[in-house]
Amino acid sequence: AGCGRWKGRFAPSPSGRMHLGNVYAALMSYVSAKAKGGSWLLRIEDIDRQRSRQMWADMIMSDLDWLGLGWDEGPIYQSARDDAYMSYLERLAGMGLVYPCVCTRADLMASRAPHASDGHVAYSGRCRPSTPCYGAVAAEANLRLMVPPCPGGPDSDEVSFDDLICGRQNVALSCYFGDFVLRRKGGDWAYQFAVAVDDADMGVTEVVRGDDLLMSTAPQRYVMSLLELPEPVVYAHLPLLKNSDGVRLSKRDRALSMEWLRANCYPRDVIVAVCRAAAVNPEEMLSVLERLR
Ligand code: GLU
Repeated sequence: AGCGRWKGRFAPSPSGRMHLGNVYAALMSYVSAKAKGGSWLLRIEDIDRQRSRQMWADMIMSDLDWLGLGWDEGPIYQSARDDAYMSYLERLAGMGLVYPCVCTRADLMASRAPHASDGHVAYSGRCRPSTPCYGAVAAEANLRLMVPPCPGGPDSDEVSFDDLICGRQNVALSCYFGDFVLRRKGGDWAYQFAVAVDDADMGVTEVVRGDDLLMSTAPQRYVMSLLELPEPVVYAHLPLLKNSDGVRLSKRDRALSMEWLRANCYPRDVIVAVCRAAAVNPEEMLSVLERLR
């Protein structure tokens, strides 16, 4: 794909210490990319300026080091990528597909569109113009992307992709998301847009992450296709970890935080714990890691 180089990535948000679930995502994306002879990119997703702290980014890197999961590229900070996001936003705006939305939280609650099956609420399109919208970029408002059916844009809002774990996915963007936000009032970039631009721009060929982000793949791929950017070719969305009783791990489990794990375990114990929770053979995983180092 792209320039012919295989590349995976780990993209943590620096809003807290890693826990076992983050370690799982890091481990699986690392092993998956490196086992193909590819490289592993570390991207610090600090677009949420309120919740992100350099201290947490440093801690995440220290924890990855301790675990022996070394990155080949990065850390790349999303907060340093304003120019890239702006130039892609301008391209979408130039296509007439971006419009300002002045809905308040109360407006959004009052004009809810039908729910998707899992309770996700799509934007109703309350502020959507009836003709293509040019010159919206400077507006002091949330900026949304028109998804089809829309004037001047593509006809289909269906995004289809294969997930290695979850299987074939067909997502109707207009039902599930509606016109989604690209940039927030005040200048914060929206997660879907930043990740789409980053994965494409950075030549990421495979995305391995938690399955809470399975549906997010659809708007991300949609942005890439509108911008005619290279799309990742492999997606694998990992199930949430369960403890030995088959119950989902939760923050109440003491042994989840890297703080506790580093104080009480060796790195290999943590890898073993993750593998047990994920029903992966720990010995095999350890020998794979050994070979990759
Ligand atoms: N930054 C996101 C998180 O920490 C992950 C984004 C992604 O892997 O696409 O939940």
